[in-house]
Amino acid sequence: MYSLFLPADAAEILHTLNTHGHEAYIVGGCVRDSILGRTPQDWDITTSALPEETKALFPHTFDTGIQHGTITVVLHRTNYEVTTYRVDGEYADCRHPIGVTYTKKLEEDLLRRDFTMNAIAYHPKEGFRDPFHGQADIAAGIIRGVGDPALRFQEDALRMLRCVRFAAQLGFSVEEATYAALCAHTALIRNISVERIREEMDKLWLSPYTEKMPLLWESGLLAQIDPMLSTRLMCRSQPLLPQLAQCPKEAILRWSIILQDFTPLEAEHFLRGLKCDNFTIKQVCLLLAQLADDVPTEAYPLRKLASTIGAETLSRLLTLQGILRPLSPHTTSKALWQNILADGDCLTLKTLAISGKDLMACGVPHGKGMGRLLDELLDMVLRHPEKNTKELLTEQVLLRLQAADYGKE
Ligand code: ATP
Ligand code: MG
Repeated sequence: MYSLFLPADAAEILHTLNTHGHEAYIVGGCVRDSILGRTPQDWDITTSALPEETKALFPHTFDTGIQHGTITVVLHRTNYEVTTYRVDGEYADCRHPIGVTYTKKLEEDLLRRDFTMNAIAYHPKEGFRDPFHGQADIAAGIIRGVGDPALRFQEDALRMLRCVRFAAQLGFSVEEATYAALCAHTALIRNISVERIREEMDKLWLSPYTEKMPLLWESGLLAQIDPMLSTRLMCRSQPLLPQLAQCPKEAILRWSIILQDFTPLEAEHFLRGLKCDNFTIKQVCLLLAQLADDVPTEAYPLRKLASTIGAETLSRLLTLQGILRPLSPHTTSKALWQNILADGDCLTLKTLAISGKDLMACGVPHGKGMGRLLDELLDMVLRHPEKNTKELLTEQVLLRLQAADYGKE
């Protein structure tokens, strides 16, 4: 038997529970990831102790999902979720069990879990408890529902999206009966909140095994979430996957590739529907709006574009054009943009060597005229970055004050 590495704190929690007469194991994603040699994101513990019993044993705890029997134990500023063995009751809405019952049998707790690879418990002294042969499925790279997969998707439709996401995260294939059940139950995904759908989709697009992503639309799952996106992705399956594979793992870039056939307005509507954050929506829409135009290959217009859409957006645009429009002059623009960044050229009013306050000191009254003047000075600096000094800009201000009546609206 091989052993898994456990952080000292997780081992301590198991030990404390054990010495007080309770069973305790690490379970779920952390066991799966450890077996795969991946670093677990968090360490979940399953125990026969009741929530109140767990709370009594550790000085720092808080109730996370007490209604599901989960207590968070804090050790050395790290959170560990400790959940009492439980059996889920009837499912009300294809997502939430109506009630949960605690049990003293680990096997019953493992039975409620979604996939065999997620239903393995481990204890440093006892080794693996793996009644559904999750280790064999992990070794074979297979995602298999625990028990009757149809029933499992009916209970909680989110499991279908988790299934597709795990396939793309781990490079696993979906076992035949599990996949057939998934295809047969796609309509149930309509019961799942958009927030949970978006969360899973975000993880899916950031996954490394892009070749597994088509499971989302080939299964019919995406058609239930957004028929238009499903149709469009189905039509372009071929170039899409290498494009995604080439793309850095960043949500804004990956969403832009996924939504490349959408107008900015369509993309905004779609992402708002998924309750995406405003920054992501704005960025994706900006990128889609700029995508078809070549990025300038000369310094002034390039600085001007950076000033208008923002430096970060321009960097993303260049990356995106390199992937989606490889024949555009993005390489030349990119080299130039690197130089501009390395030179630290001023691109915004924030880094202009003169401020509104300075203008007032020169006698420019506050108002629209001042805004216009600042814009003109920025434009001059975008043309001639070397002119971004306080002396030169002040000189310009004084010249303009003499020549025109700034401030008089
Ligand atoms: P990740 O953290 O990468 O999302 P994970 O498998 O750790 O993967 P969590 O949501 O952290 O997923 O859940 C921990 C464990 O709880 C899972 O491994 C699984 O055993 C169980 N679990 C989570 N969600 C479900 C679900 N919807 N249905 C059944 N079991 C679930
Ligand atoms: Mg997890």
